[in-house]
Formats: sequence, C-alpha cells, structure tokens
Amino acid sequence: MADTYDVIVIGGGPGGYVAAIRAAQNGLKVACIDNWENRDGSHSFGGTCLNAGCIPSKALLESSELYHRAQEEFSSHGIGVGKLSLDLATMQKRKSGIVGQLTGGIQALFKANKVTGLRGKARLLAGRKVEYTDAAGKVVVLEAENVIIATGSSPIELQQVPFDGERIVDSWGALDFTEVPKRLGVIGGGVIGLELGSVWKRLGAEVTVLEAMDDFLFMADRAVAKEVQRLFKRQGLEVLTGAKVTGCKVSKKGVTLSYDDTKGSQSVEVDKVVVAVGRKANTQDLLGEGSGVQLDERGRVVVDEHCRTGTQGIWAVGDVVRGAMLAHKASEEGVVVADLIAGKVAEMNYAVIPSVIYTAPEIAWVGQTEEEVKKSGRAYKVGSFSFAANGRAKAMEAAAGMVKVIAAEDTDELLGVHIVGPMAGELIGEAVVAMEFQGSAEDLQLTIHAHPSLSEAIHEAALAVDKRAIHAINR
Ligand code: FAD
Ligand code: NAD
Repeated sequence: MADTYDVIVIGGGPGGYVAAIRAAQNGLKVACIDNWENRDGSHSFGGTCLNAGCIPSKALLESSELYHRAQEEFSSHGIGVGKLSLDLATMQKRKSGIVGQLTGGIQALFKANKVTGLRGKARLLAGRKVEYTDAAGKVVVLEAENVIIATGSSPIELQQVPFDGERIVDSWGALDFTEVPKRLGVIGGGVIGLELGSVWKRLGAEVTVLEAMDDFLFMADRAVAKEVQRLFKRQGLEVLTGAKVTGCKVSKKGVTLSYDDTKGSQSVEVDKVVVAVGRKANTQDLLGEGSGVQLDERGRVVVDEHCRTGTQGIWAVGDVVRGAMLAHKASEEGVVVADLIAGKVAEMNYAVIPSVIYTAPEIAWVGQTEEEVKKSGRAYKVGSFSFAANGRAKAMEAAAGMVKVIAAEDTDELLGVHIVGPMAGELIGEAVVAMEFQGSAEDLQLTIHAHPSLSEAIHEAALAVDKRAIHAINR
C-alpha cells in the first residue's frame, strides 16, 4: 500500500517549507519533497531563497557595502584604515556559512515539527497521488488528502546570450564568482540586476547594466525611480535603458554584447555577463496525465485568490503561481493554504505586500504608486520628506533619498508608501502594519516616533500630506 499523508508539499523553498511546518503545527501528517541540488551535489532545503537567492545575495551586499564604505566614507568620520584589501574567498566563505546555518535550521524545524523531509523529485499524478523519485533513483507512489505545489522558479535564458556557466551566468553564478570581474555586463535592470550589479561594482568591477525598457525601474513610483537613477549615476552605476540586447560573441578575451538603442546598433566589451531578465515557473515534467492542474500561457499553475487549483485537494503557492516572485509572498501563501486545509479562516492581502530592493540606498514600497492611484481615478494627496533633513540619517552619513506617502483625499486612508534611503527595507514595516490596519496619514501623524531615528522621515512625510511637516517648507 502507498504511504499516505494528510499533506504532501512539493518543493522546499520559502513557500513549501513554511507550508509544511504550518500544516504540521495544525496537527496534520506532512511530507515535503524537494530536489534542490547544490554545486557539490549535496541537498539542502530552503529552495532558491536560502540557497541561491535572498540570503547569499544579502550576505554579499552587506560585505561589499562595508568594503565600499571603508573606502569611501571612513575618512569623513576621521577614521584611517591604511591600505584596504579584499579577500574574496573569505567573503564567499562567510556567505556560504550563513546559507549553511539557515538551511540546516530548516532540517531542525522539520524534525521538531515532525515533518518528513524527502530529498528527490516529485510528480503529481491523478487522484492526489504523487510519484516520488528519491536521490538513488528509486520510484514510489505516495498519496495525500491534499497536495501543495511549491516548485518555485528558475532563471529565464536569453536565446541570443545563452548561459555557458563560465563567461555568461545566471544570478546563482554571479553569487559565486571567485574573482572580481574587471568589466561586468548585466542584462536586465530589474531587482537582481541592480542588487548584483551593486555588489560587483562596490568590489571594483566596471558594471554596465542593459535594460530593455525605456523607463528605469518601471514597477516603482516614478519620483522614487528618478531619485534612484540620479543616485546610482552619482555612484557610477549607470543603467542604459531602452537597450535591447541582440547577440553576443564569446572569445578568450571576453564577451562582446551587441544591443540596439535609440542611437542604433551598439556594443560593449565585458569579461563576464549576468543575465537577469526574470524567472519562469518550475512546471516542466511536474504534472502527470489526469492531474487536472491547468497552466497559464507563461507555464504558471493557475490558482484562485486562495491558491486553489480547481482540482479538489490540489493547491499551489509561491513563484510557481501568479503574482510577485517574493519569498515573503510565497511563505504567506503557504501559511494561508496550510490553515485553509486545516479548516481555519485565512486569506492573503495581496494589496499590502512590501517590495524591497537591497541596493545602497535601499528602495522599498508598499501599496500603489502615484501613477497607479492617478490611473484609478481616485483623488489623492501626497507628502514627501527628504532624508537630508533627518538627523539620524545625517549622523549615519546616509542622508540621500526620501519618503513619499500617498493618501486618499476623501478618507485619508494610506494608499502607498515609497522610500528610497537608509534601511528602507526595515522602515517599510511601519507602513505595512499601518496599511494592514487600514490606517490613515493622520494615524502616522499622531504616532510618536523616536528621536533621532530614520522613522521620523515617515512621520514627517505623513505630516507633509496635510502640509504640516515640521522640518520642511510645506508647499
Ligand atoms: P523556490 O524558493 O524556488 O523553491 C522551490 C523548490 O522546489 C526548490 O528547492 C526546487 O528545487 C524544488 N522543486 C522544483 N521542482 C520540484 C519537483 N518536481 N520535485 C521536488 N522539488 C522540486 N525574494 C525576496 O522576497 N527577497 C529577496 O531579497 C530576494 N532576493 C533574491 C535574490 C536572488 C538572486 C534571486 C534569484 C531571488 C530572490 N528572491 C528574493 C526571490 C525568492 O528567492 C523567491 O521568490 C522565493 O524563493 C520563492 O519561493 P518558492 O518556495 O516559491 O520557490
Ligand atoms: P525582474 O523582473 O525584476 O527584472 C528583469 C528586468 O529585465 C526587467 O526590467 C526587464 O525589462 C528586463 N529585461 C527583460 N528582457 C530583457 C532583455 N532581453 N534585455 C534587457 N533587459 C531585459 O527580474 P529579475 O531581476 O530577474 O528577478 C527575478 C525575480 O526575483 C523578480 O520577480 C524579483 O521579485 C525576485 N527578486 C527579488 C528580490 C528582492 O525582493 N529584493 C531580489 C532579487 C530577485
């Protein structure tokens, strides 16, 4: 007889492993099957996020930022460090150590919660059966009352610039460079392009980012994107927009990338290329005949707002379904599904999911951009405040950037908060909580913020919505 579970989760990334833990907390018998493979052939739970995404990238962003600050900023604090040196091997070892600690932590959490973690590949068959092929190639069929698909996503390859794992790499390859490339080409000026471009720029590479769209950071509020572009230009990280890559020539010396822009056909010589043009859902060879699960035109599993696929007992969460490809979105969907399976009331608030880009300065937002509010036809008011007038930011030598608060003209409800500046990824939490509680600009105005703190910039931007900012001229 087949092994049976209440819940089988396919995929052990932030969508899958979190769903498995919550389902087990709900008293259910759970297995989580995951086929991640590290470069040395070993397995670890955590998916893209822990092994090759959020965590290793943030480790390198932190290290490279410290290196950059030691070079560029310490002297203004009166600190001399002599000749600075870079030991990339140690930096990479630190990164791998953090990844190892966190992925090991999932194993411990599985054990504590009695989740059966299975290494190997899963395929969904008809009738809520799951074909499981273990690491040794042995195949068994498991059964479950509920199956949660959380197989995540993989980098999109460009036909004109195919990965070779050496000169032309994906984001994982770019996290593992053993030398700082002299000239780095980045195709795609999205989140990965900007974060990894920043890492290698700070460590000394000459970085050229080629972005196909005419607008820089098209998904962000225009005022924020404009400010970010200005600040990046000052740092020497120039993003060429409207640059459509047409091909590449790889030689012993490097790579010639050709692209078209408004001026015509152009080319740039680089030593390495990172292709970061988005990610595609992992649904290849996932669905057996009669599984009943539908895929959309982009190969993503089709789900409703509660992550139901439409086939009884089959759910899907995270990067493999519609919506933002973000770890916290994947995890929260996992929690919601695990609670719904247990008969609890649960739902996702898709309108209040924060986005953070971990460059320096950081960029973070929640809710609608001004352009989206305008398009919706809703009357609104805006307040902005610059970090240049924030004492803590000045003390941190990090006074570039601003906070922008958008509120409804009639009800004063917060519609969007956008930040570019120091610790924006931490600051946005306040706005997320306020919006989750359907708070207003006045709620932020009446809340006492510690002094001196970066969060005072949010307070002042909320006051500026009603032209009542204290430390700015209200216009
Ligand atoms: P994944 O994390 O991709 O996990 C899916 C797992 O399922 C993988 O282990 C995969 O091997 C496994 N799997 C696939 N098919 C099968 C199968 N048939 N059988 C068994 N197992 C299978 N997001 C953020 O929110 N913040 C960040 O700072 C951030 N930084 C990022 C940096 C980089 C460089 C990258 C690439 C991504 C980053 N992301 C970030 C995005 C984030 O990693 C993803 O949104 C998140 O990992 C999605 O979680 P998931 O569980 O849906 O999928
Ligand atoms: P993205 O969608 O953020 O950006 C891809 C960029 O590539 C876009 O700006 C697009 O216009 C551009 N592009 C597409 N085709 C191109 C071409 N042929 N030539 C030049 N430019 C081209 O995707 P990404 O940066 O690859 O990241 C993938 C996902 O991972 C994103 O959805 C992101 O949310 C997630 N991620 C999140 C974080 C974070 O939360 N901090 C960090 C990294 C990745």
